[in-house]
Amino acid sequence: AVGVRPLLPVVGANLRVPLVTGQETTYANLDYAASAPCLEEVAAHLTEVLPYYASVHRGAGYASQVSTSLYENARAQVAAFVGARADDVVVFTRNTTDALNLLAHCVPTDGAGERAGDVLFLDIEHHANLLPWQRGRHRYVVAGTTQRATLVALRAELAARPAALLAITGASNVTGEVLPLTEIVALAHEAGARVVLDAAQLAPHRRIDLAATGVDYVAFSGHKVYAPLGSGVLVGRRDWLDEAPAYLPGGGAVREVTLTGTTWASAPQRHEGGTPNVLGAAALARACLVLADLPEGALEEHEEALRNRLASRLDALAGVRLHQIWRDSPSAIGVVAFTVEGYEPGFVAAYLSAEHGIGVRDGKFCAHPLLSRLGAQAGTLRASVGVGTTLSDVDRLADAVERLLSVGPRWEYARVEGRWSP
Ligand code: PMP
Repeated sequence: AVGVRPLLPVVGANLRVPLVTGQETTYANLDYAASAPCLEEVAAHLTEVLPYYASVHRGAGYASQVSTSLYENARAQVAAFVGARADDVVVFTRNTTDALNLLAHCVPTDGAGERAGDVLFLDIEHHANLLPWQRGRHRYVVAGTTQRATLVALRAELAARPAALLAITGASNVTGEVLPLTEIVALAHEAGARVVLDAAQLAPHRRIDLAATGVDYVAFSGHKVYAPLGSGVLVGRRDWLDEAPAYLPGGGAVREVTLTGTTWASAPQRHEGGTPNVLGAAALARACLVLADLPEGALEEHEEALRNRLASRLDALAGVRLHQIWRDSPSAIGVVAFTVEGYEPGFVAAYLSAEHGIGVRDGKFCAHPLLSRLGAQAGTLRASVGVGTTLSDVDRLADAVERLLSVGPRWEYARVEGRWSP
């Protein structure tokens, strides 16, 4: 049956963690939306390529040649993973935040160095897809109570005044709700705006297809698609990336340097100054390959079973409230935001970890404007699932919350420097 076993093996699946009682238990990781565990296949790939650890491009030695081809193959694999068009560029970055900052740096400017057009975004975004845009000309649209109303508001704003770029998330990192991408791209393009997709949350859960959807740029992180920390990508249209100043001036970003002037390389090298994170890129690309190799629909089926069980079990508990942005969202990735009546989110998170060995996240999830509009200024809890999660992990969480509501915590907790601990 779906969800009984992990969909793919991940490193650390049987991690033992200490409980406050002095006993230990198997860790239930329900925090995939923050950083997902590394796929076993990715870890094996890293072990295999580690001996060839070398600097790319300029070395003539065998290890340098291997590293160079690893790095450039990784680029091609990522391009295939997102359905890139032939002339799209893949730039390796540190993470999604870095990728979006890179694009912000590349939005065309006028003679005075100001953005030539506005960047438009919704009020539901993660700070990574909000703060880089706030640094120059920008506008925002307040999302409506339905996706339908939100699209109407976006269309009206774009019709009223043009924008250079619409920056939009593929799925909310707080509630998991998936946005109607095709319709959003259509209305942006009708108004002459390009679209950048923050796919930090979408990429681990849904296929992305730049060519089919018309999305102009996509950004995501390796650590959310089951590779280790430290790598990300920006993929998209070449022109802005080729015309912008180098993002990270330095070795590798240039064609020729004299003491009085420099000829810069074109993208992607233009924006990848310094020794690149070859292993990070190789790991990210291998994770993409593994996800893309899953049978059609298998990932969605696995995660939907887990999410439905999680949401329905939590929803059945009097005292638990689930949070959503829209009343009409047709689908959501494996992320659920909730609060427990009578308990601060930080307390519940500490209780789940200390008494049950369950890892969830609490707080405002780098989305302060969204938390305010959800009426959850004090934050919420967030449970999130992925390929290594099973129904038993999800049931452990629901059982533990149920127990908290019926008998309360077993232990005494105190707030230390703003965090609850036993
Ligand atoms: N956007 C969204 C929707 C996210 O969930 C996150 C990570 N929480 C980011 C951007 C930023 O990703 P990173 O921290 O890897 O830069």
